[in-house]
Amino acid sequence: MIPPRLHAALDALSAAALVAAPRILRWNRRLHAPLAAAGAGVAAYSLLTRYDRPSTAPLSMSEHLALDALQGAGFCAAAAMLKHEPPEVRGLLAGYGLFSIAVALLTDRPERSQRRVGRQVPVGADAIARIERGSRIREVAPELAYRRLGIVNVAFLGPRGAGDRNWILVDAGLTGTARPIAAAATERFGSGARPAAIVMTHGHFDHVGALEELAERWDAPVFAHPLEHPYLDGSRAYPPGDPSVGGGAMAALAGLYPTAPVDVRPRLRSLPDDGTVPGAPDWRWLHTPGHALGHISLWRARDRTLLAGDAVVTTRQESAYAVATQAPEIHGPPAYFTTEWDQARDSARRLAELAPDLILSGHGAPLAGPRVCDALHRLARDFDNVARPRGSRYASPPTRSEA
Ligand SMILES: [Zn+2]
Ligand SMILES: [Zn+2]
Repeated sequence: MIPPRLHAALDALSAAALVAAPRILRWNRRLHAPLAAAGAGVAAYSLLTRYDRPSTAPLSMSEHLALDALQGAGFCAAAAMLKHEPPEVRGLLAGYGLFSIAVALLTDRPERSQRRVGRQVPVGADAIARIERGSRIREVAPELAYRRLGIVNVAFLGPRGAGDRNWILVDAGLTGTARPIAAAATERFGSGARPAAIVMTHGHFDHVGALEELAERWDAPVFAHPLEHPYLDGSRAYPPGDPSVGGGAMAALAGLYPTAPVDVRPRLRSLPDDGTVPGAPDWRWLHTPGHALGHISLWRARDRTLLAGDAVVTTRQESAYAVATQAPEIHGPPAYFTTEWDQARDSARRLAELAPDLILSGHGAPLAGPRVCDALHRLARDFDNVARPRGSRYASPPTRSEA
């Protein structure tokens, strides 16, 4: 296959040849202008193409290759029609035409790797868990409620009306969402009810946005896996998001997502080694690394309920359209931030082995029922084919920046 960079070089060479060759080879003057125009055309659409990235603006590689093939066909047709030209001229025109078509067929399209992260394991809309809607919060299971904040969910563990210090918050949404999170807590647990703890599945920007503000307001301890602490105590930034995976607007923007750590140092604690969750006695935490090194999920065996965090999600988080419509599917971790794909696969398999009845993840609607469990098993089994993007920045280890 021809890599896009070589293709770009061939395009530049072709454009130059179309302008210069007819003059150097002293072809019929009538051919000079049309061939120079063809060369200028190739140069123009080549300049509009992003060769090395799955970008659609202004010209995608697929569109570029279609133009190449069209141009090639045009030269073959011209060679056939220009009967009064010498055979060597017609031969070169036909040869160039066939060369263009061959190059178009043999060039790697970055969109191919992009397409790999399309819908992964779709489930029907009837798999969306039954939700009891409050005005600011939704209950999905006894003592489990959540609030969706645009692109991300936060979860509330504890019985309705639990009161002060008798419930916990899981994750802390986007920057600027402290108010809606606190309002949801008030509606569910009573006014002035502070959590016993805030538990973090991991420290990505869309999960820690309101963390500093809420931890301080509630004077609540923040529990996270020790491997996630550097991103919560201000000492280390995440590697940048990879915009080349996922093929959607959310992924395309990934290079712009904040990676800087938050700092909740005075209140930051390590999750207990015995797997218990402070403030939520029915739950256990599991280390599910891959999407982030210290990523955890929460499990309640009593009713087989899984809070997956971003280890697996229930919508195609790379696509703004899917995020907006919350089209349900079982999907690997959001690809643009996932750095350790072998670990991510092992984590998905571990979660599938639990055979959950209900999954609430960091992104997407809560899903329930036997078909959801089947879909999770399928994702776990075929993870490398279904969820792992080809050619992503982090697809092959090790690329972690220790910035
Ligand atoms: Zn994340
Ligand atoms: Zn996330």
